Amino acid sequence: MQITPHVYNMHIDDGATSHPGGSNNFFVGDPSEEMILIDTGDYEREWTRSILDYYDELGKPKITAIVITHGHGDHTGGLDRIQEVMQAPVRCHPKLVKHLQKLLDDEDAVVALKSRERIVTGGGVGLRALFTPGHEVDHVCYYLREDRVMFTGDTVLGASSTSVGDLAAYMKSLELLTKFKHDTICPAHGPVVPAPRGANLVRWQYEHRMGRERQVVAALEKGISEVSKITSDMYPKNLKKGLRPSAERNVNTHLRKLIKEESVEETPASFKLNN
Ligand SMILES: [Zn+2]
Repeated sequence: MQITPHVYNMHIDDGATSHPGGSNNFFVGDPSEEMILIDTGDYEREWTRSILDYYDELGKPKITAIVITHGHGDHTGGLDRIQEVMQAPVRCHPKLVKHLQKLLDDEDAVVALKSRERIVTGGGVGLRALFTPGHEVDHVCYYLREDRVMFTGDTVLGASSTSVGDLAAYMKSLELLTKFKHDTICPAHGPVVPAPRGANLVRWQYEHRMGRERQVVAALEKGISEVSKITSDMYPKNLKKGLRPSAERNVNTHLRKLIKEESVEETPASFKLNN
């Protein structure tokens, strides 16, 4: 479905199996001229089929580029089959280039993006590549200034909070996104978030994470020093059992960030016999 004058969304409902609110692939530009495709979905043939069917529906415009948000399988799985049909250059973060060249068995098909590069397409619009590590080191968000849309990949999701590898980098990436004025968030997973909520979602995510960090620091100030106990201090007593591991992972990620910033020190706290 059409989201804004230059954005078309192929939504796939894989929410029950893996992603709350389903997943999205976006075509950007003018269907009667040229378009850019963002991400190529998972390995499943059905997902690839859905992207190609939607491409047919749009009238098979010339594809200027296939741009990739990051290297995870649910974003690059269909790449070889889709590239075969669209015959378009694949653009991605420099750290992902080798992997995709191997995947396509073609060195010339993949070209590294430059930070802040603008990829021009039909309708007189273009996507600005914003390097946004955090969820993954090779993550790129794309900004469509003409429609005030931010394509956030897995950096900001529509219906859940994302997993973060490097929180310090992630927070910087969120800050970067707020510098590009947008009303609509087009995430890789979950529903599209339109105005007015879309304009504030990145800021909200940032504040939410900072709030968690303050809770971790508060627990440390009380002298609580183990991840499991910090988690108990921060989260409600009736936190569902299944959510506990991800809550602890979250606390751990915050501690890693604080260590990196040198405001927290890790000390080996227990000993056991080797046997
Ligand atoms: Zn994903």
